[in-house]
Amino acid sequence: MVFYRKYRPQKIDDLDSEEIRNNLRMVLQRGVLTKGKQQDIKNPSYFPHAFLFTGPKGLGKTSTARIVAKVINCTGRSSKTDIEPCGKCEQCISTINGTNMDVMEIDGASNRGIDEIRDLRDKIRLAPFKASMKVYIIDEVHMLTTEAFNALLKTLEEPPAHVVFILCTTEPHKVPATIVSRCVLLRFKIATEDELVRSFERIVKGEKISADKDALYAVAKLSDGSFRDGAKILEELNLLANGKKITKEFVEKKYNLTNINKELADFLIFLKEKDSRKAFKLIAGLVEDGTDLKYFLEQIINNLHLLLLKKAGIEEINSKSPDFELDEIKALVDLFSKAYLDTKYAVLPQLPLELAVVEWSSETAFSQQSHILDGTRSDNNDIQSQPRSLNESLSKNLNNKPSFQKAAFNSPQSGLSHDFKELGELFEELIEKVKPYNHSVAGVLRGCVIKSYDGQKLEIEARYKFHKEKLEENKTMQILENIMAEISGKKVIISVVLKS
Ligand SMILES: [Zn+2]
Repeated sequence: MVFYRKYRPQKIDDLDSEEIRNNLRMVLQRGVLTKGKQQDIKNPSYFPHAFLFTGPKGLGKTSTARIVAKVINCTGRSSKTDIEPCGKCEQCISTINGTNMDVMEIDGASNRGIDEIRDLRDKIRLAPFKASMKVYIIDEVHMLTTEAFNALLKTLEEPPAHVVFILCTTEPHKVPATIVSRCVLLRFKIATEDELVRSFERIVKGEKISADKDALYAVAKLSDGSFRDGAKILEELNLLANGKKITKEFVEKKYNLTNINKELADFLIFLKEKDSRKAFKLIAGLVEDGTDLKYFLEQIINNLHLLLLKKAGIEEINSKSPDFELDEIKALVDLFSKAYLDTKYAVLPQLPLELAVVEWSSETAFSQQSHILDGTRSDNNDIQSQPRSLNESLSKNLNNKPSFQKAAFNSPQSGLSHDFKELGELFEELIEKVKPYNHSVAGVLRGCVIKSYDGQKLEIEARYKFHKEKLEENKTMQILENIMAEISGKKVIISVVLKS
């Protein structure tokens, strides 16, 4: 059996998150063990009849829901103080196997209509088959239709005493507030490295694997906060190690973590030169080699940190890294820290890194622009003529990206046969449709505006030369023209002009 299934949490203590463990114990304790009487569970003032578990995929929401079902129905518990399920009684075993007739798992995505929920409502009234409580686990509950939510709400308002609902969702903002307010809310968060290592230690112990703690931390770094990912990596390492001790060095070697120093040095030089073309090429190479980009980003930030210490005179460092100014280092740290956070949820792992490069490379233009602005203002206000930090002007200008609306209004040549809203929608549609072909082109387009469009010719205005060049590449043009033909139903000639 694969590790992550075999070591799927089976009791509260197995859960990664300390916060979830504590909250669950606090909430469940009262109904399950107060005065040692089970019937207290059925009294809603003792025990909540609805839970809402929120958080990203793969953090164990469904596993936790099953644990709650076992805690509620376990009959083999001997302790008078500990609410952990025994894992051995009929209720526990059938819940683990998925054969418990009183624990229903419903996928909200495929049972989203009113009929399904009405059907559920009717069945809910029936007493449990064998367990003391019926437990309904509704996964992806945000997928339910409005009518289904209304029907569910009626049930939640007056739940039969023998029913507990556990609603799970990755998108809590789509769950109506009326539902949320009737539930005990538990938020699942990405596991920290410490929490992951704690869970890995269960596997290491259970499988009698010999592994250094440092090695487990290295695996945690690679697993993006997901126990499942980490368990898979650990399983792979265990096979590769073939009985030998798993060390940090072994993990780094197997996952190609160490040999990126040259790439790292080159990347920093390309950043200094603002050569986004070379930087993109390097990123593509890393992707091809299967390098973990999150690790690469970590190393960039580490390097910038060292440069910062050197610049500030705090540490003497022999570094071949290019000489960045303090402002530049700060701006780079901001950009790449954001990219690091975004990497976790990126459809394409390289995209956040590429976008950081695009933003950084555009930044000279930004800062020049803002100095011009400062100059014109200096007549009125001396304070504003102070040179801004790069970072400030960068973020200011990012927030003030000119929109296509402005372009259509301000430019006399703009395609006035279409009003600006239509143009805006057209451009949005174009960008959305480009995305699946090429994310970085979509990113470049976001920095551009439509200058004119008359149904036959589309003129895109780029603010930077390298944007223009990127869009004018044959391959890119082909994609853009195909998509415009698809949108407008006829051939559209596309040209790119540089903003003067
Ligand atoms: Zn049990």
